[in-house]
This record gives sequence, C-alpha cells and structure tokens, in this order.
Amino acid sequence: MYFNEQSIIYHNGHYLHPNEPNIGLYSQTLHYGNGVFEGIRAYKTKQGAKIFKAEDHYRRLKYGAEVMGIPFNFSVEELVEITYELLEKNNLEDAYIRPLVITGADMSLKTSSESNLTIQCWEWGKYMGDRLLKVRTSSFERPNPKSCFVDAKVTGHYINSVLSTNEAKNSGYDEALLLDMYGNVAECSGANVFMEKDGKLYTPKKGSIMPGITRSTILDICKEEGIPVEEKHFKMDELKQADSAFFTGTAAEVVGLQSLDEYQFPMEWIQSLGHRLMHLYKQEVLCERKRKLSKAV
Ligand code: PMP
Repeated sequence: MYFNEQSIIYHNGHYLHPNEPNIGLYSQTLHYGNGVFEGIRAYKTKQGAKIFKAEDHYRRLKYGAEVMGIPFNFSVEELVEITYELLEKNNLEDAYIRPLVITGADMSLKTSSESNLTIQCWEWGKYMGDRLLKVRTSSFERPNPKSCFVDAKVTGHYINSVLSTNEAKNSGYDEALLLDMYGNVAECSGANVFMEKDGKLYTPKKGSIMPGITRSTILDICKEEGIPVEEKHFKMDELKQADSAFFTGTAAEVVGLQSLDEYQFPMEWIQSLGHRLMHLYKQEVLCERKRKLSKAV
C-alpha cells in the first residue's frame, strides 16, 4: 500500500528503494519513541505539484529535533528541495509525505548523538474519509503538557493517539476526541477540532494541543473571509450543545462530525461553516482560492 517495486525514498543523502535502508535494532526511536516526524501533503495544482506549507512543516520538524536534542542539521530550504526531488522521482503530484528523523543506536536514556533522515511519500486519500464521523469521547486524556513537548511531533507521543483510536474503533466509532488534563476539550487523536455555535466558530486554545498547520490555515481563512472565530477553552458539555463541529489536519483535511457519543450535531453539514471551510481549504491547497480584497484603510 505504501510502496511498490518502483518506489523511491530519501535516506541520508541517497535515493533508495524503501527496502534498502539498514536501520539498526538499537535505535532509540524503536525502543523509546525518541524520533520526530512530519505529515505533509503535496497537491496537483494547475502550476504542477505544490507542497502545502512545506516550510511550516519542516520548521516544526526542526523544532521537534531541537527540543528532543536530536542532531539535525538540514535547513528548511534543503528539506523542501529534497522533497520536491523525491516527488519527481516517484512521479507523484498528489501525495502524502512522511519525513522521519530516526535516532542512532544508544540504549541509554540520553539522546543519541546520531540521527538518520528518511522521507517517504505515497498516494493517500483523505485520512478519515469523506463521510461525517461518529466520534466518541476517549477515556484517554492528552498528555500533561509538562510531561513532554506536546507541540512537537515526537514518535513516542503517538502512543496516546494509537490507544484512543483503538478504543474508538473497537467500540464502533470512527474517531476519538480527547480532553486535556484540565477537563477541557483538546483534540482528536490526529487532528484539531472546531465547533460552530450561533454562527461563530470556536477551537481550543494552544497549551495542551498540537497546534496544527491546518488549524492555523483555517484561522487565517476565517479572518480573510470574515467568519467569526475564537480560540478558547471549552468543556465537552458545551461541545454537546454546538450546532456543528469538524476536525482539521493535514491527513484528514476538513471533515465534519455527525455525532459525539449520544449527541447528534443538529445542523445539516452542508449548511455549516465547516462545510464552507472544507471547500475554501481545498481551494487554498490547490492555489485556487480567490483572495478577498483587503479594505482600504
Ligand atoms: N493534533 C494531532 C495530535 C496531530 O497528530 C495532528 C497531525 N499532525 C494534528 C493535530 C493536526 O496537525 P496538522 O494540521 O499540522 O497536520
């Protein structure tokens, strides 16, 4: 599914078949989850393949490596260039791109002084599909923001996402929504959440969440389109009185919620701000969104 005979990945300065790299069994990424990664998308636009917000994603990857003390000397510009080259070698324009920084062999708990960079890409549809999602409140909480860097994409953090997704799917739901340690709505296992109430959007403030690049794109689009939006903490009870809700993420893009536990969101998805934003987001990534003229001051 992720690769075939012709696939090529980038690995430490070389372009190889995915079966070729030899990552040792003693990597800290394997044992302790001490690695950083990204999830990026490229889109086939009228001007050719365009990696959406490539610089922002690679800045986040570098930030993650830095806070984890992982040696990583690539510049954002180099990483973007390598990624375009990789897409070309794989003949891909619409693609999901997965850079992964893998730490070296070191069984101590001090970050290894070696690292490897692999970048993989493959064709991948909208991660959560196109239908409205049946979501459950997870019994797992997002990690205490003082226990790790919640805004860095560290491989080990994703155990929390795996547990909550398993729980949701094993109990007949599509996805999980997690609270933070203070009982505020935080995010989905791999996406951010927005709710609509009386014509206005709300999304959890930064602090306990991964502040997604899609989330920030949606906030920018709202500003430009004059859609009222506020970042604030709110509880599940408040979300269960919302008119509509949606998730945002690079892999998921913008996807609507049908229900949260027993609560059915009452607004028709196609009438909602989420639905409008789903289309505006698609236009944005395809470089087709018509900018509103800014008002003369
Ligand atoms: N929250 C979590 C936990 C995630 O893993 C992701 C995906 N990176 C997001 C939110 C959305 O982030 P982005 O929009 O940057 O993909």
